[in-house]
Amino acid sequence: MPVTPANSDILRFDRLYIGGEWVLPEEGGMIESIDPSTGAVWALVARAGRGDVDRAVAAARAALEGPWGTMPGHERAALMRRFADLYQARAGELAELEARDSGRAIREARADIGSHHNGYHWWASLADKASGRTIPFDNTVHAFTSRVPVGVVAAITPWNVPLMAAAWKLGPALAAGCTVVLKPAEQTPVGTLELGRLFEAAGFPPGVVNIVPGYGGGDVGEWLVAHPGVDKVAFTGEGGTARAIVNVGSQTMKRFTFELGGKSPHIIFDDADIDQALNAATNSAWTLCGQSCALGSRVLVQRSVYDRVVAGFRDCAARVRVGPACDANTHMGPQAHLAQLEKTVAYIGYGKEDGAELITGGERLSGGIHGNGYFVQPTVFAGVSNDMRIAQDEIFGPVAALIPFDDEDDAVRIANDTRYGLTAGLWTGDTGRAHRVAAKIRAGMVWVNTYRFIRWSTPYGGFGASGWGRENGVEALDSYLETKTTIISTHGRFPDAYAD
Ligand code: NAD
Repeated sequence: MPVTPANSDILRFDRLYIGGEWVLPEEGGMIESIDPSTGAVWALVARAGRGDVDRAVAAARAALEGPWGTMPGHERAALMRRFADLYQARAGELAELEARDSGRAIREARADIGSHHNGYHWWASLADKASGRTIPFDNTVHAFTSRVPVGVVAAITPWNVPLMAAAWKLGPALAAGCTVVLKPAEQTPVGTLELGRLFEAAGFPPGVVNIVPGYGGGDVGEWLVAHPGVDKVAFTGEGGTARAIVNVGSQTMKRFTFELGGKSPHIIFDDADIDQALNAATNSAWTLCGQSCALGSRVLVQRSVYDRVVAGFRDCAARVRVGPACDANTHMGPQAHLAQLEKTVAYIGYGKEDGAELITGGERLSGGIHGNGYFVQPTVFAGVSNDMRIAQDEIFGPVAALIPFDDEDDAVRIANDTRYGLTAGLWTGDTGRAHRVAAKIRAGMVWVNTYRFIRWSTPYGGFGASGWGRENGVEALDSYLETKTTIISTHGRFPDAYAD
């Protein structure tokens, strides 16, 4: 629980969660967390130092080799279910913390975080299902495989959806029997730190989950990646960070999963239900103020309906209520931090420089309800060609780039002309076309006549620059398990190779 000092509105979360205890950081540092709706510091959060990282990894190792490692799967599942119930009971409060910390609109945060307990329950149901197989050989040996936890996992999460990113790692890691050291992004550490209360209340053995807020490069993130006591790094964030993690983590041959960025094509054919397509395309361009890896930020529109879709985007932008994240009336909150706002504004400039037509938006909003917050208008560019910077780079802001295409082949060519390959959407009334186009698109997840439908059971991850491996689905469980082969002689004799 936060401590509110007298004469101050700034909350203090002054302890780390290590080894089942709330401990002061050894070096006593604090992170200032800024409320992006106001631009002012709203919370001070304990900042882990190198010694704290060592303590957390040691606690995770001890739990792995002790009570957690020896606990039957169904008992781990029971603890996870208890955690899920507690999470559900506190979901509203967690949503408020996330809205305050990340600027995510409270209505969106409530809907998302209010569903996370389902995911934890789903993962709990897999906690006793990791089974191996028997390998037929001959009657001299019995050969079989078993699936064992990878070990201690460093889970490193981004600032856009901190609790969802944490859930996607904690769920499969705990189901697999791993232990975790969780490091939230420095911009949004608050909600994640509060998860420690729930693990404590659920009765998890000390050290199964440890939470160490801190910075990335040259700090807690990098120390965890370099730490010889960590077996796997589960990371969501930027490609450049992932490459740095590979460089450091490969020195100790860590396992990796990487959920990185996207520049997803959202394709609208002229035979689609255009109103439905517009609902999905506008939402998937501006949800989370554009700070989602699955954003349909490249909207590919068949020429015959292009003007209609451009007009639909313009009209919808006028209806989007941009305001403080914790206001229930707000559709779209601010950008999560100042550097992200500056990046978005810079890319809006690149769009103009590169010759795209700004249809609406494009400005930072300030004053009035927007005050000094990091608000930007929902923005629409038309006449975009796929080689422009706003079509090739992940902006992570509410900027839709509308690109015209002629026919199916043209749509597929443009859709695949990207270094990313995370998600894609397509809208068509033709079932054959749905199958043809979906099969040709190079992306880890393709939606037809829907968008951003993501569940715990559906594997999620990307091709190319969008990452390595998958989160969610049984595929994610696999990535937290090692296969171990055991071969037992059934006759107990081993010939003397040097007998003559
Ligand atoms: P980021 O890479 O800057 O930071 C992510 C995390 O890595 C933070 O916790 C940070 O402290 C840590 N970090 C930074 N440098 C590090 C280092 N050298 N070693 C270890 N840790 C380090 O990313 P971000 O800006 O926080 O997040 C935005 C990115 O995340 C976007 O590119 C977005 O597409 C991506 N993302 C992807 C998914 C997905 O599922 N594919 C989901 C959400 C966000």
